[in-house]
Amino acid sequence: MNIAFDIDDTLVNNDMVTKYLAAQGYDPYKVLRNFHIRNLKITKAEAKYIHTMFSMDEMNHLKPNPNAQYVIETLSQSDINEIFLITARGEEVKDGTINMINDHFPTILEENIFFTAGGSKEDILKELEIDVFVEDNIEAVLELAPKMPEVKFFVLSYSETPHNHDPIAAMDPLPNVTVVENLIDILS
Ligand SMILES: [Mg+2]
Repeated sequence: MNIAFDIDDTLVNNDMVTKYLAAQGYDPYKVLRNFHIRNLKITKAEAKYIHTMFSMDEMNHLKPNPNAQYVIETLSQSDINEIFLITARGEEVKDGTINMINDHFPTILEENIFFTAGGSKEDILKELEIDVFVEDNIEAVLELAPKMPEVKFFVLSYSETPHNHDPIAAMDPLPNVTVVENLIDILS
């Protein structure tokens, strides 16, 4: 089974971006939501600010979310599973990101980490023939899931994740989307 994970706020806790955006007077929820969905517009200043942050060294020293290491280790133990990471991070933090993943998730192969630089994850999900995708950005999942009925999506509802600021209960249920409160729930 090809299982893919988002990185920020899925495997690692990335509240630095939210905090920096808020400190600059931006609405982090709006900016991040729009940044990750191509067809929504953010201002040039907001985009520049996000790219500045995404190139900061702190991005490469984030801590794993609760249970993330256990989940990846457990899935990696089965020969039928191949683990991929698909992140909206860009080339600026590519090496640092790979190092961070190696530190916390040593079973994930470097060549299985893909960077979309803010772009949609749709093409990579298709190209890699992903069966399961785990992501914290509910709006991105709501955009992808109807286009890929064969993919099983898990959306994390961590309260601290910036993308799920809006009540998750308000989402329309889709047959291939499951909302989980904890990463460990994807194992059951
Ligand atoms: Mg994320």
